[in-house]
Amino acid sequence: MKTNPATNLLGLDAQGMEKLFARLGEKPFRARQVLKWIHRRGAADFSAMSDIAKELRAKLTAVAVIEPPVVVGDGTAADGTRKWLLKVDGANAVEAVFIPEDGRGTLCVSSQAGCTLDCAFCSTGKQGFNRNLSAAEIIGQLWLANRALGIHAGGARAISNVVFMGMGEPMLNLDAVIPAARLMIDDNGYGLSRRRVTVSTSGVVPGMDRLAGECPVALAVSLHAADDALRDRLVPINRKYPIRQLLAACIRYLERAPRDFITFEYVMLDGVNDSDAQAKALLGIASQVRCKFNLIPFNPFPDSGFKRSSPERIRRFAEVLQRAGLTVTTRKTRGEGIDAACGQLAGEVTDRTRRSRTVAITELRA
Ligand code: SAH
Ligand code: SF4
Repeated sequence: MKTNPATNLLGLDAQGMEKLFARLGEKPFRARQVLKWIHRRGAADFSAMSDIAKELRAKLTAVAVIEPPVVVGDGTAADGTRKWLLKVDGANAVEAVFIPEDGRGTLCVSSQAGCTLDCAFCSTGKQGFNRNLSAAEIIGQLWLANRALGIHAGGARAISNVVFMGMGEPMLNLDAVIPAARLMIDDNGYGLSRRRVTVSTSGVVPGMDRLAGECPVALAVSLHAADDALRDRLVPINRKYPIRQLLAACIRYLERAPRDFITFEYVMLDGVNDSDAQAKALLGIASQVRCKFNLIPFNPFPDSGFKRSSPERIRRFAEVLQRAGLTVTTRKTRGEGIDAACGQLAGEVTDRTRRSRTVAITELRA
């Protein structure tokens, strides 16, 4: 009989797995073997684990499960971008998106069902917040995507990079994000280099410091404005951690980071933050922190109240930064037709903070 509740092994990093195995009277190397079965080979049940003794498999069956989120939607856009809608409980579903590009494949994962931070231009923020995802629910997105996408001829996995740029603010859920990120970089897990796992934050300063100490992976910071007055409006967490504090945290992060720059994300909002003067103001910020800029054309959603800057405006804005010697990339808009672009991810979240917007899981369509 199973003890209640059974431990979901999917969410245990190497340390967590070794602790569990110690409790079961098993050696640490057994824990690593099981880790490999689950994450490297995508095993979903214990019977497949052929090099694990029968008695241990029986022990594990009694106390543990391997339980990913349930796929309730799976769509592919014309450009190959694929989006899964994943049910994590009776009331919430989150989204994960795979973006294939030449020479690499990026999986964008969610860290929370909804988000508390309510950035003015973000559809996840607009739908409110219900709860943090568990480590199993976060790594489960990669586990499922890996199984769905398979392995390329030649043995390489389809997913070479992971970005925490789906629903939610990862720095407000580090208890789960850190074990998930550790599994991503663990050789017995997904074996990704720290540089290929990127956490994106709207600027939660204490979280940035904690991540630097416990699992420094690449960092992206959602800047979106060059001055506090505008950033206060667009990214409300700025009222708590204004730009000066944010930049100081970026500089501290760089001491531990696997890359020698921070990526500043900057959503291009027509007539709001896209003038030449605003680009020039960013140079003052760039002179303080080693950084690159990633311009994101705004992705519209119903009643957002914002418009995307024109391609010409984005080009000119980028030029101002480039002329000053900065590296600037402009994000291609991907996943059109399946609402899979940045900021369009909404999933289905039963919002405990705004009950009027509650959506029942029964309305989910596969
Ligand atoms: N909460 C984290 C990570 C998730 S959002 C953060 O805010 O950084 C990932 C990126 O998408 C962020 O840079 C975010 O500002 C941006 N984004 C949100 N809504 C958007 C929209 N409608 N169009 C384009 N980018 C958007
Ligand atoms: Fe949350 Fe990021 Fe959206 Fe802001 S942009 S509401 S922090 S998910």
